[in-house]
Amino acid sequence: MSSDGYHMSSAAFRRHGHDLVDWIADYLDGVEQRPVRAQVRPGEVRAQLPTAPPTKGEPFEDMLADVDRVIVPGLTHWQSPNFFGYFPANTSGPSILGELLSAGLGVQGMLWATSPAATELETHVLDWVVDLLGLPERFRSDGPGGGVIQDSASSAVLCALLAARHRVRGDAGHQAPGLNIYTSHEAHSSVTKAARIAGFPADAVRLIDTDDHHAMDPDALGRTVAADRGAGLTPCMVVATVGTTGTNAIDPVRAIGELCRREGVWLHVDAAMSGTAAVCEELRWIHDGLELADSYCFNPHKWMFTNFDCDCFYVADREPLIEAMSILPEYLRNTATASGDVIDYRDWQVPLGRRFRALKLWFVIRHYGVEGLRHHVRAHIEMAQALAGWVTADADWELAAPAPLNLVCLRHRAGDAVTQGVMERLNDSGDVFLTHTRVDGRYVIRVSVGQTHTATRHVQRLWDLLRRTADEVQGTA
Ligand code: PLP
Repeated sequence: MSSDGYHMSSAAFRRHGHDLVDWIADYLDGVEQRPVRAQVRPGEVRAQLPTAPPTKGEPFEDMLADVDRVIVPGLTHWQSPNFFGYFPANTSGPSILGELLSAGLGVQGMLWATSPAATELETHVLDWVVDLLGLPERFRSDGPGGGVIQDSASSAVLCALLAARHRVRGDAGHQAPGLNIYTSHEAHSSVTKAARIAGFPADAVRLIDTDDHHAMDPDALGRTVAADRGAGLTPCMVVATVGTTGTNAIDPVRAIGELCRREGVWLHVDAAMSGTAAVCEELRWIHDGLELADSYCFNPHKWMFTNFDCDCFYVADREPLIEAMSILPEYLRNTATASGDVIDYRDWQVPLGRRFRALKLWFVIRHYGVEGLRHHVRAHIEMAQALAGWVTADADWELAAPAPLNLVCLRHRAGDAVTQGVMERLNDSGDVFLTHTRVDGRYVIRVSVGQTHTATRHVQRLWDLLRRTADEVQGTA
């Protein structure tokens, strides 16, 4: 590494790199002691930053000191074992090191030719993941299908939609009105967003009713599809969710898939968070019927110890995806692409450029092994199930929805004001971090168990805090 001009020398890079890795290890060791939610008001972080960039370069030590002084207090600590909000975005040592290596190599994997190992490792690891989760063989890359790493589940559903539309209407797809998309009321907003980005009118997204467990009702889906056909409209894609964001409901993929097969409609399955559970053989029921899906995604960046961003997206047939996405300008032409023997992942996603994300997933799978991943996923589920049991046995609290895996939705029997009051007080205290949803119109606290280092004692402490804070909120403490 040359230190010509203003560049950082190799010696300095080594020194600062070691310091930074030490800093990260210290941060992760001590994160449990920090208030989980950021303790700043809007604008407070910016107010501490100089208004203009420095004219002269500054020492790295000063940057790291400012991270401590300005940045860390403005963080919500997602890696705290007391973080129970949203869905997890967990990480791990091997993943962080894989990310660092990706930055260090700095390769662009847009074409096979721009860095063959980046493409081939990604293809290989995504085939491993088919085995790891027991996914249908048709998602493997040695047949017509295959997998690719997207930045997010939102991008995955957009790509699925573009491929689905292409399968129905070919190149004229974007000009063709009358195509509809179906998903449940409980599906993630990324489905509606994908439709909007792809140019579908708002009323093209049909939100299907759910059953008592908040999962999509396949009969309601069938009725809506039939009515649309009757009105001369064309069903284009159905999105089923395995583990909805609100309550972790599992849509009946098999029944939905059979309907999609009969109707010739593309089925995309969004298992963003819950897909990881399928590393455990006894939990593969969540994917029952997945062999009927045209595409599928889950996020190792949620619950599989792989830092953001990493979404595994699979298609059973890559042709419509590639046809929908591929534009080949002269400057990207090369003999490997022309041979047809290689995968060019730029044709499987929206951007051209792409990072070497497979490294971190490869490191994670190799570090933990199937056994290690199963161990930790089972542990998270056991903790969540223990909490669900305590809630069920308590006279003051109740479950607001079934808790099939690692998300527990609970509310205080005294009503919304107490439930909301408890959550806000706990978040203000920084002791834990929780988020909410509404179930059947009522305020509900979501407890999402999935941070890498969350242990039984953290969930036990959370339960104690919930009960104690409810007494305080009601003035009975
Ligand atoms: N789908 C589901 C079910 C989710 O829960 C989420 C995020 O929580 C998403 C999609 C969007 O994920 P991403 O941030 O990867 O786009």
